Amino acid sequence: MSKYQHIQDACYKANMQLPELNLVLFTFGNVSVADRALGVFAIKPSGVPYKDLTPEKMVIVDFDGNIISGDLRPSSDTKTHAVLYKVWDKIGAIVHTHSTYATAWAQAQRDIPIFGTTHADHNTVDIPCAPPMSDDMIKGNYEYETGYQIINCFRERKLSYEEVEMILVGNHAPFAWGKNGDKAVYNAAVLEEVARMAYLTEQINPKAPRLKDALIEKHWQRKHGKDAYYGQ
Ligand SMILES: [Zn+2]
Repeated sequence: MSKYQHIQDACYKANMQLPELNLVLFTFGNVSVADRALGVFAIKPSGVPYKDLTPEKMVIVDFDGNIISGDLRPSSDTKTHAVLYKVWDKIGAIVHTHSTYATAWAQAQRDIPIFGTTHADHNTVDIPCAPPMSDDMIKGNYEYETGYQIINCFRERKLSYEEVEMILVGNHAPFAWGKNGDKAVYNAAVLEEVARMAYLTEQINPKAPRLKDALIEKHWQRKHGKDAYYGQ
């Protein structure tokens, strides 16, 4: 058994959740899962239909984007994952999809406003949309620069990647992450649902106000605060 089997298994399982949750079409989307001690991550191979994936097909890559093990070419977004793992040293898994509603907000180049408690249960701020990438970034090392576009957006806005585990990249689509594959996929699904609700909210009332601070604080604290009482 390969020493990477555990992350290949976790990566396979997380990738297979994307079509189940209706977050991807065809071969769109990719999940990676890291082993920090080994300094590598497993990621979906490029362009392979979900039904043909197996744990063994997950490609092993280091945090500089070098292929360590695997016969298939890794996802075309591999360098974005590598940069995020390298700079943000507490994330254990990353998800990228083109899920419809989150991608629509990214294409509209808008943050997703915090309209309700579903959003507040997961984030106390609007979900950020990084600006579209510059021509130089696009012509250069595009996937690598996409990682920096995400990191720079968090730096400029003084956001913590451990608190806000999702972002939109302007003109492109969402990225989400978490401490493991299950949490990262959960965050990608939450992001899509919050994006859908926010879109509908603006259709019903284009002037819908943001959630009150008291409710933002209440919902965040009861789920994440030191006296959290959500769940068992
Ligand atoms: Zn993409």
